[in-house]
Amino acid sequence: MIKKILLSSDPVLRRQSKPVGKIDKKVLDLIKDLKDTLDVQKDPEGVGLAAPQIGKNLRIFVAKYKSFERVVINPEIIKIEPKSLSAKAARGKKEILEGCLSLPYYYGPLKRAGRVTIKYLDEKGKDITETFDGFQAQIIMHEIDHLEGILFIDHLLNEGEPLFKVEGDEWEEVELS
Ligand code: ZN
Repeated sequence: MIKKILLSSDPVLRRQSKPVGKIDKKVLDLIKDLKDTLDVQKDPEGVGLAAPQIGKNLRIFVAKYKSFERVVINPEIIKIEPKSLSAKAARGKKEILEGCLSLPYYYGPLKRAGRVTIKYLDEKGKDITETFDGFQAQIIMHEIDHLEGILFIDHLLNEGEPLFKVEGDEWEEVELS
C-alpha cells in the first residue's frame, strides 16, 4: 500500500529505530508498503526509503536505482573506506548533491565515503555481507542514517555546507538552522 511520507520536522524521523525480530507477515507487509511508496515517487524521484519515513521505527529500508534493488533489514556497518588516505582515495570520494523524500526539493553537497561494507538480512532472513561503491554506497549510508534518526541536513550543518531549494530550474540557497 502506498503510504504518506513523513516530512523532516516529524519526530518519528528523529528516533532510533528498533531491530527487526522475526520476519513475519507484518514485516513483509511493511516491506511491500516501502516498495509501493518508493515506486510512485517520481517528482522528486526517490532512490531509497526507510521504514521511519512511513511512520515505523524499525530497522528496514529499501533501495532502488535503475537495476540496483535491495531490501535491507537490521544493517550493521562493517567497514567504511577511509576518507582520504591517499590522493587516489580522495579522488574516489565524490561530492554529489544529496536529497531526501522527507525534505522534497532540497539538495546539498554531501561528502560521503566512496565505499561501505554492511552485514544485513534480506527479506527471506538470509545473512548477507555486501560492499557498495559510489552512488549505491551513498544510498546505503543515507538510509542507515534514517534508522539512527539522522537526516542529511545534519551532515550539511556539521560540515558548513549549503542547502539549496530547487523550484523548476531555479536554485536558491537557504539558511540551515
Ligand atoms: Zn532520506
